[in-house]
Amino acid sequence: MKIAFIGLGNMGGGMAANLVKAGHQVNAFDLSADALARAKDQGCTPCTTVREAVQGVDAVVSMLPNGKIVQKVYEDDVIGHAPRAATLIDCSTIDVDTARNVMKSAAKYGSYEMVDAPVSGGIAAANAGTLTFMVGGTPSAFMHAETILKHMGKAVIHAGGSGAGQAAKICNNMILGATMVATCEAFVMAKKLGLDPQTFYDISSKASGQSWSMTSYCPLPGVGPQSPADNDYQGGFATNLMLKDLLLAMEAAEQANAAVPMGARAAELYQEFANLGQGNVDFSGIIRMLEASGEA
Ligand code: NAD
Repeated sequence: MKIAFIGLGNMGGGMAANLVKAGHQVNAFDLSADALARAKDQGCTPCTTVREAVQGVDAVVSMLPNGKIVQKVYEDDVIGHAPRAATLIDCSTIDVDTARNVMKSAAKYGSYEMVDAPVSGGIAAANAGTLTFMVGGTPSAFMHAETILKHMGKAVIHAGGSGAGQAAKICNNMILGATMVATCEAFVMAKKLGLDPQTFYDISSKASGQSWSMTSYCPLPGVGPQSPADNDYQGGFATNLMLKDLLLAMEAAEQANAAVPMGARAAELYQEFANLGQGNVDFSGIIRMLEASGEA
């Protein structure tokens, strides 16, 4: 297949490379010359504009920073420029409303099939082709998108209609933000109560306090499996990205009139942590802020 890939950053770079490995011809576009050069090294064909990249393709995949950019790229340069039979797949994490609006714009042209397909899994999963895709769109659009997404992920799940992928993504990450904070504060308190951290981990990881934040991504160095905590909280999932997802969740909660007191508190705490200049630190590093506020 001939595929246009727009946005070759930390995530998109590895995803586009996996499409090349699967035998697809990939036209690549990014505003960054460095990202484009890396994509060329991985076997993509670099293009100078989005419009050039989408010429004659069977599908367009995008992995962009936010909803504003996604809307502009699709409405200015993809819709009406890519062949009408092309499947449009936006993998960026954006707000539900923008995802639905862009799909409406695509639908006005009649024959485009479009899905929102945000991912779970970070840069390592993007490189390894082991992402989980949560897909919103019609059953037919899902079927077409799945044939492409399966080359970049270990799971491709149909979440429902337009915007349902984004809804699943922000609800999932709201759980992640809240459980990470809860896990961090429990470790800090356990230590202050005289518990050995490893002993507490051994107990809680097999008891009802268990969660992904504890057993797959333990925020304490030297405890549990290897995680960013063992690398001075570098790499992994940046606090700024967690905050972005929590703020999208708060926006969606307000629109849907959903009560999200735990998610809201997690958003406040991650905002506080980012304000301390820790936006690029892994999100599990918030344990340091909790340790320090207990000392104050
Ligand atoms: P990134 O900043 O590394 O990459 C984004 C790329 O888009 C950059 O290379 C930038 O130059 C390019 N870009 C920006 N505007 C453009 C435009 N108008 N046309 C073409 N290219 C443009 O970000 P990332 O970490 O790869 O994240 C991408 C998306 O994936 C975000 O929506 C993010 O929330 C989501 N996400 C990231 C992670 C992660 O761990 N990094 C995990 C899950 C989801």
